[in-house]
Amino acid sequence: MPKNIDILEERRSSISQGGRNLDCEKGSVAGAVSQRACVYSGARVVLNPITDAFHLVHGPIGCASYTWDIRGSLTAGSELYRQSFSTDLLERDVVFGGVDKLKAGIKEIVKVYNPPVIFIYATCVVGVIGDDVEAVARAAEKEYGIRVIVLKAPGFAGNKSLGYRLAGEALMELIAPKFNGQKVKGLNILGDYNLAGEMWIVKNYFQEIGLDVIASFTGDSTCADLMKAPTASLNVVQCAGSMTYLAMKMESEFGIPWIKASFFGLEDTAKALRDTTDLIGTEEERKRAEALIKRESQKTLAAIKPYLPGLKGKKAAIYVGGGFKAISLIRQFNALGLDTVMVGAQNGRKEEYEVMASLVSSDTVILDDANPSELEAFMREKGADILVGGVKERPLAFKLGVAFCDHNHERQAPLAGFLGVTNFTKEINLTINSPVWAHVRNAVGALN
Ligand code: SF4
Repeated sequence: MPKNIDILEERRSSISQGGRNLDCEKGSVAGAVSQRACVYSGARVVLNPITDAFHLVHGPIGCASYTWDIRGSLTAGSELYRQSFSTDLLERDVVFGGVDKLKAGIKEIVKVYNPPVIFIYATCVVGVIGDDVEAVARAAEKEYGIRVIVLKAPGFAGNKSLGYRLAGEALMELIAPKFNGQKVKGLNILGDYNLAGEMWIVKNYFQEIGLDVIASFTGDSTCADLMKAPTASLNVVQCAGSMTYLAMKMESEFGIPWIKASFFGLEDTAKALRDTTDLIGTEEERKRAEALIKRESQKTLAAIKPYLPGLKGKKAAIYVGGGFKAISLIRQFNALGLDTVMVGAQNGRKEEYEVMASLVSSDTVILDDANPSELEAFMREKGADILVGGVKERPLAFKLGVAFCDHNHERQAPLAGFLGVTNFTKEINLTINSPVWAHVRNAVGALN
C-alpha cells in the first residue's frame, strides 16, 4: 500500500503496489463514492447501440438521461436508437403504481414507430413499488405482435456488471427463439459498440481476410442481424466485461466457441486477427491476415515515429471500466515509451489484475473499484502526466491540470485497430505536451 494516502480501511485490500492478490469482483464499499455506474446503466450501455430497437425507461425522468448522446455509437442505417422514452414516474405514480403509464408508453411507441422490439428498463423506483412489468410486456406482445423484453434493472440491485448480465439475458431472449440449428462459416463480434466507427474498422479487416461477420453485438446492429448470430462458428469477444456472460450462454445454447480479443494496440490487434483466422480461417485466409498485419503495422509504425520522442518517459494513469481494456492500454503505453504509474478498473477480475501487475513496475499503484478521492491522491503522489479514462474521470484530470484522453463514451476518433494506434498516439502527444496544463497547475496549485 502506498504511503501518506488517506484510504478507507475497508478499501485497503482493493489497492496495492504489485497488484498481487488484489481484492476485487465484489460490491462497492458503502460510502466510498465508487466510480462504478448502476445496474440500469450497464444494461443500457450494451443494448442502446441496436439501431432499430426502442428503449423505454420505466422510472423517473432522471434515469432516461442515460442515452445515446453520452455514447458515440455510430450507425450506418436507422437513427431510431437516438430516441429515448420514459414513463416519467412522479410522486402520484409511486403511490398508485405506474402500470397505466407503462401501457400508454408502449401503445404510443407502437403507434408512431411500429418497432421490432421494445426493451423496458424497470429502474430503482419500480424496484421499490413493484409494478408487474412482466405482465404488461406479455400482454403488449400479444396485442401488438412485437417483442417486448423486460430488464428488471434497479440501480440499487448491484452494479454495472449485473446490468451487463441482464443485457446478455435480454439478448438471448431476442435471438434464441429464431435459431433453427443451421450453421455457417463466420464470426460474431461481441462487445464493440461502434464508438467513433470502430466496428467498421474491425469489420473491414475481416472482410479483407475473407471472413464473414454475421452479427455485431451491438455496435451498428439491427434486431434482424442479431437474430442471425446463433448460426456463427465463432464469437470474438472484444469487451470481455460486458459480453463474457453472453458468450458463455451462446456457447452452451448454440455451441459457438468464443475467444477474447482486443483491437487496441498493434500487438493486440495483430494477435486478435491471428487468433481468429487460426480458429476458423483457411490457409489462404491466414496468409491474407499476415499480409494485412505486416502492411498495416509498417504503415502505423512510420506514422507514429515522429511522436515518440515527445512521449518517452512520461507517466500515465489509467482508469477504465474493464480490466481487459486496461491491459491493452498498458501494452500500448509500454510500446510508446510511457510508464504506467497507476492503473485500475471499475470491474476488473483477479486474473486481469495479475496480468496488469506483470506488465508494470513493482511500485505502480493498481486499484479495483476506485473513487475520485483515491484517483486524485495517487495521481498526485505519482506525478501522472496523463489520465486515460471516461466521462466521469475527465473533470478530475482537468481540475488537477493533468492531460486527459477519453477512451470511453465520448471519444471522437476511432482508437481501435491499426488506425486507432495512430490516432491514440497523436491524441496522447497533443494533450500531454500541451502548455495549458502548466497554466492550470499554476492557477490551482495542483500537483505542486
Ligand atoms: S441508480 Fe436508480 S435512479 Fe439512478 S440512474 Fe440508476 S436506476 Fe435510475
